[in-house]
Amino acid sequence: MRVVLLGPPGAGKGTQAQIIAGKLGVPAISTGDIFRANVSGQTELGRKAKVFMDAGDLVPDEITVAMVKDRLAEADAVGGFLLDGFPRTIAQAEQLRESLQELGHGLDRVLELVVDEEELVRRLSGRRMLVDGQMVQRDDDKPETVRHRLEVYREQTAPLSGFYEGEGLLARIDAIGSVEEVTSRALRALGADGDGEAGQPAAV
Ligand code: AMP
Repeated sequence: MRVVLLGPPGAGKGTQAQIIAGKLGVPAISTGDIFRANVSGQTELGRKAKVFMDAGDLVPDEITVAMVKDRLAEADAVGGFLLDGFPRTIAQAEQLRESLQELGHGLDRVLELVVDEEELVRRLSGRRMLVDGQMVQRDDDKPETVRHRLEVYREQTAPLSGFYEGEGLLARIDAIGSVEEVTSRALRALGADGDGEAGQPAAV
């Protein structure tokens, strides 16, 4: 199955991506994680991406798209994948469609996690991650950067919802609730909850 997980920062995409990908038996591919690994590894890609990430801006398409194309060509992603954090612009979505077409594939479903903005700000400001045995705040989870990231989401990424709705691929789910509740809504919407029936709308 080829799935895109869409949703604002703080919607729980990373957590759900790992669980859902595990259930579907496909790799979860997170562009944010790939960038962060490159920043920690002090690679050339990481050095370029860090400037944009620290400001809460999107890393330019020419860097991001090439990186995703390479990742999707790896053996484990040939039979399916769950993309988390990509695409984030209409241009990226068009490039993704082209890359998949070249490989003779298309997306099966785009799952949007819906959370209101007040809840997102609350979640992001309290979010911590484990680094070298310590719980630390991501540089881009600082309050002023969070506000900017939400703005970037509204302006550049939110239009993808309409884009994929037009393609008949979009399923929206309420992402407020326990991790387990959200996972079971997600699996139902993907038709992967065991009853064989896809949620709204039917896959094309
Ligand atoms: P995330 O972990 O998905 O919140 O991503 C963290 C940061 O990585 C974002 O704020 C962007 O700076 C960068 N990033 C991740 N995915 C993309 C993408 N598809 N396009 C551009 N920048 C991205």
